[in-house]
Amino acid sequence: MTSSIAVFDTSARLSESTKRFLARKHRLFIGGEWVTASSGATREVLDPATGAAISTMANGDAKDVDLAVRAAREAFEHGPWRSMSTAERAKIIWNIGNLVDEHSEELAQLEVLDEGSPYNIVRNFYVRLGAEHFRYYSGWATKIGGSTVPVNMPGEWHAYTVREPIGVVGQIIPWNVPLLMAAWKLAPALAAGCTIVLKPAEDTPLTALRIAELCQQAGLPPGVLNVVTGDGVAGAALVEHPDVDKVAFTGSTDTGKAIVRAAAGNLKRVTLELGGKSPVFVFPDADLERAIPGVAEAVLLNSGQACTAGSRLYIHEDIYDKVVGGVAEYANSLKLGHGLDPESNLGPLISERQLSRVSKILQAGIDEGAKVFAGGGKPDGAGFFHRPTVLTNVQPGMSVYQQEIFGPVISAMKMSGDNLDALVREANNTVYGLAASVWTRDLSVAHKLAARIRAGVVWVNNHNQTDAALPFGGYKQSGWGREMGLSGLEAYTELKSVGVYLG
Ligand code: NAD
Repeated sequence: MTSSIAVFDTSARLSESTKRFLARKHRLFIGGEWVTASSGATREVLDPATGAAISTMANGDAKDVDLAVRAAREAFEHGPWRSMSTAERAKIIWNIGNLVDEHSEELAQLEVLDEGSPYNIVRNFYVRLGAEHFRYYSGWATKIGGSTVPVNMPGEWHAYTVREPIGVVGQIIPWNVPLLMAAWKLAPALAAGCTIVLKPAEDTPLTALRIAELCQQAGLPPGVLNVVTGDGVAGAALVEHPDVDKVAFTGSTDTGKAIVRAAAGNLKRVTLELGGKSPVFVFPDADLERAIPGVAEAVLLNSGQACTAGSRLYIHEDIYDKVVGGVAEYANSLKLGHGLDPESNLGPLISERQLSRVSKILQAGIDEGAKVFAGGGKPDGAGFFHRPTVLTNVQPGMSVYQQEIFGPVISAMKMSGDNLDALVREANNTVYGLAASVWTRDLSVAHKLAARIRAGVVWVNNHNQTDAALPFGGYKQSGWGREMGLSGLEAYTELKSVGVYLG
């Protein structure tokens, strides 16, 4: 168990291009130009592993959002993006994916400094998936068609459907895995032919800004992508703006609800990817050598800051002691430290605010009767670190069971497994419905649970794996709509029916 965080000199690990990027005073990207915020306001960007300032961003507000929306509207109505051939559009999006790959080292360094996760996972998982996401959706740009429809209206008709880009879209993303979140949003919107105002999270603006530069380099026409960095004030202005046709949001359920209310003004389309409290089930016939680290990582990936975090762990009574012990051993073996330190394999939480939020929910759980089986607390040293924590004696009424903690906290619970219906009823007893996983070799149990769990994604013998082709999103208060795959593309289109009366 990490007792104190080692001091790590990051400068030796950073490339010259990363150092130059960090040293800049970052601006907003509007209409193909880099501009300062109208108010001149800036914010420091912090490294969560040290708490120290590493760069400066512009703090955009409603005025900047308005300028960005105007630029996006101009590009949508009069720019070359909509009228260019779909093959040309596909090529530009493909180029963006390739440029993300070519700059993967620099992007990974920026992401680690900005968000905190260990370098290897950021480079080999998040940046790679981000590049693939652009390439996957570049393929769709040439395949957005409609169909002819046989109709029975009086007379002779030729009727067909077409899919058109929805227009100007506002995209708001959170601070966890920010590069991948940006790719999830940008790629399908670009493939559909939309123009975009992207608002990254105030804690993690860096990779979105670098991606905007790469989009420019890839040949994206001015105004197609605009980036306004800033906090919730800029986000709210984007949601309220009367000339935005759609808002795509990833973030907390509370903010999602505020967005639904604020989007009512012009009834803009809204898709939401929100929080979760995902159940994980481990049965005695599972391959425990894979399952134990697998269910531990289901929560500890990104220090628990994943919307899909499998934070409610149901373990069959026959293997409960072995699995809880194994998960605790795994959690204790992780070395907390700076993400650029090759020795560390667990990073910090994103901010002081998030650290204090996690500590408070954990303490409430302990006060309600949960037991700390392993870990807990903040190690000595700088940064916003929290030790991975395994709780036992967790009951459904407790706050640790109901609330999304978004920190490295596993609630382990014993299950009998004899009555799957009762088990599912308990697992579904949450306002969320984002993800779940089932660890078993019994196909019947796996499929029965997959069918009954009310969640947008169910993994069997795995957790947290996503693919650009596989739709992703939430039931219940985990969201509206789906990202990824064809559904993710269609969410950026309007469907038009054309009926031609032939006489
Ligand atoms: P958050 O809701 O606080 O912020 C998300 C974004 O919304 C930020 O860019 C923020 O500036 C902006 N924002 C804040 N107030 C706003 C407002 N009133 N109007 C418009 N925008 C506003 O969320 P967070 O704490 O940054 O992110 C963590 C949350 O994101 C967790 O709940 C997590 O589960 C969720 N998440 C979901 C998915 C998913 O795909 N379902 C993926 C990642 C994260």
